[in-house]
Amino acid sequence: MGYNIVFFGPPAAGKGTQAKIIESKYGFKQLSTGDMLRAQVAEGTELGVRAKKIMDAGGLVSDDIVIGMIEDNMNRNPDAKGFIFDGFPRTNAQAQALDLMLAKRDEKIDLVLELDVDYNALIERVEIRAAKEGRSDDTVEALKNRLDQYRDYSSLILPYYQIQGPVHKIDGMKSIDDVTQQIENILGPLL
Ligand code: AMP
Repeated sequence: MGYNIVFFGPPAAGKGTQAKIIESKYGFKQLSTGDMLRAQVAEGTELGVRAKKIMDAGGLVSDDIVIGMIEDNMNRNPDAKGFIFDGFPRTNAQAQALDLMLAKRDEKIDLVLELDVDYNALIERVEIRAAKEGRSDDTVEALKNRLDQYRDYSSLILPYYQIQGPVHKIDGMKSIDDVTQQIENILGPLL
């Protein structure tokens, strides 16, 4: 049975960076809805064209679309040792859909990690990432909207997870190595 982890936190908290490190160290499969959507945009699919407008404005793409993408990717990886959900779920509907999809496989969310980063640090990180990666949603205006979406929708799913088990808070202000170490300190004894 797979081991399933949710990486939770605001935009630019370091979810993707840490998910990739943990993926390669432990052999889990990272599922990032942001990466999946950016791949659709890069391919110029109809979905990509529609999603780009929403992403560039810092809004949330519809639940049906991201849930469908996650389900496809889970089905395509039946032998995964476990999944790291990165940037998903972002709404209550997504969290509930994820539980159902996992239940069909006789699985559940085993661990929720919340990456905690100061508001000002997020803004600085996005400015640096904008210069490095050129992401079209790393603008001041889009970031403001993404942070609003996080506050208004995404952060509200934490209580949903807290009633199921502990949500582990990670100090995301530390160096990349330090954050990885904090994650491994929690993960190691559980595996
Ligand atoms: P991310 O790379 O996770 O920051 O995602 C980039 C953008 O993709 C977000 O600002 C949203 O527009 C969209 N997106 C990614 N994941 C989701 C999701 N789970 N639900 C809705 N929209 C999403």
